[in-house]
Amino acid sequence: MSTRIYILRFPKETSNDPIIYQLVKQYDIEFNILKADILPQREGVMILELKGAKESVNKGIEFLKSLGVKVERLAASIHRDDKKCFQCGACTGICPVGALAIQRPEMLVVFDPEKCTGCSLCVPICPVRAMEVSLGAGTLAEVEEKTIV
Ligand code: SF4
Ligand code: SF4
Repeated sequence: MSTRIYILRFPKETSNDPIIYQLVKQYDIEFNILKADILPQREGVMILELKGAKESVNKGIEFLKSLGVKVERLAASIHRDDKKCFQCGACTGICPVGALAIQRPEMLVVFDPEKCTGCSLCVPICPVRAMEVSLGAGTLAEVEEKTIV
């Protein structure tokens, strides 16, 4: 079973089509829309949690790509600015999957992007905003606006 968060960018030609419905019907994937900015005849962006068998989710993503939808894992957009991070550890308590954890005995806060689901809970809790979400060409303000809390 796979539960991951993705950023979908829809070309304007598809903005009127029931693509997400087809995703559920054809590939047996559950979804949860976290953010959406889609208008008729305009390019749209959606942040979506997809849950299902790994193979089904992969097939569903291939289906989306075949329609011209750009699909990116939100986790791939999460970065830590190591120059800002001062190792306070505040983020380790909130990360639900242990992607931010204290490495002992060094007591260093380590970030493992492979474990990260892209939930963004660590972004607002960091006092120096060392955890960053970059959504394509999005500005920091857009990123903060799109942070999922
Ligand atoms: S909360 Fe921010 S400063 Fe503190 S350990 Fe986490 S990333 Fe570093
Ligand atoms: S976005 Fe932050 S809190 Fe969420 S899984 Fe990734 S590292 Fe953990």
